[in-house]
Amino acid sequence: MAVNLQGRTAIITGAGAGLGREYALQFAKLGAKVVVNDLGVSLNGAGENASAADAVVEEICAAGGEAVANRDNVADPAAAQRIVQSAIDAFGRLDILVNNAGILRDSSFPKMTDQNFTDVLNVHLFGAYYLTHAAWPHMVGQKYGRIVFTTSPAGTNGNFGQTNYGAAKLGLVGMMNCLALEGRKHDVLVNAISPSALTRMTEGAPLGELAQWLRPDLVSPAVAWLSSEACQVTAHIISAGGGFFAQHRIFETPGVQFDPQDAVTVDMFDEAFARIVDIEGAKPVKPGPLGDLIPRLVAMGRLTAEA
Ligand code: NAD
Repeated sequence: MAVNLQGRTAIITGAGAGLGREYALQFAKLGAKVVVNDLGVSLNGAGENASAADAVVEEICAAGGEAVANRDNVADPAAAQRIVQSAIDAFGRLDILVNNAGILRDSSFPKMTDQNFTDVLNVHLFGAYYLTHAAWPHMVGQKYGRIVFTTSPAGTNGNFGQTNYGAAKLGLVGMMNCLALEGRKHDVLVNAISPSALTRMTEGAPLGELAQWLRPDLVSPAVAWLSSEACQVTAHIISAGGGFFAQHRIFETPGVQFDPQDAVTVDMFDEAFARIVDIEGAKPVKPGPLGDLIPRLVAMGRLTAEA
């Protein structure tokens, strides 16, 4: 059967504009009942405009779909509870959470203010935490859930003037990796989208002719799939933009194993550095903190058995 979201209820944060709006329209077309959350703020988080969420709900309903608006601030834990409750009140359940709401406060690092650093983390990182924390018991209780975080090339690749945003966006990847381990056994799968699309967030970038190929609807199929029963993976980062889809992964090089019985000097590290960072034969990191350290030390005879 074709991928669909029939019978599912989704919360999409920041769905009054840009990518979130596109996700909401696509989700509704695929049969989901949608809570369209949006505070209706400007790009830097100022002001509030309730009509942003309302307009998308109207669009969905006019096309025969089901949706309700929510105008709460994701960066407020009490509001996050209300957003989740609005899904339960309107549709009786919650299956999907797309943490998408975001703001920008770009500046070079010397000009970064504590306020601009904190506010960006509050919306992207803490907002996703509050929403996910509020949604989690419902998903675990019903033994089904799909959660999508929104990361960014600014976090994985770096971007000038976005230390606050990059920190928030890779913080989300850390949260995803840990949460995926807790959710797996309950069929609560946690993945991330790393989008590239022309929205007000990127309209100032010198995109030139490329802009025409950065439509948000070239990102939304990946988010819909990650939110569906077809998705059986967890802790995946899918990058999407301009019709291209790929997976972003964290790899570990084969590295250099010194004998831990002996002292390791700075000069030994210096001599080995090129081999330490040689990506030939690199493998994706394993879930959990130790990687292959135990089997390596067992193979060296420094541990008696694998823990
Ligand atoms: P956008 O500015 O068009 O949309 C963001 C929406 O979030 C706005 O409607 C805004 O009102 C809402 N919002 C902001 N703060 C909120 C809050 N506290 N509570 C509720 N709603 C709030 O931007 P977009 O490009 O559609 O971005 C969507 C997501 O994708 C963001 O997380 C962004 O960081 C991420 N992203 C976008 C791109 C891109 O190329 N556009 C690239 C990488 C990541």
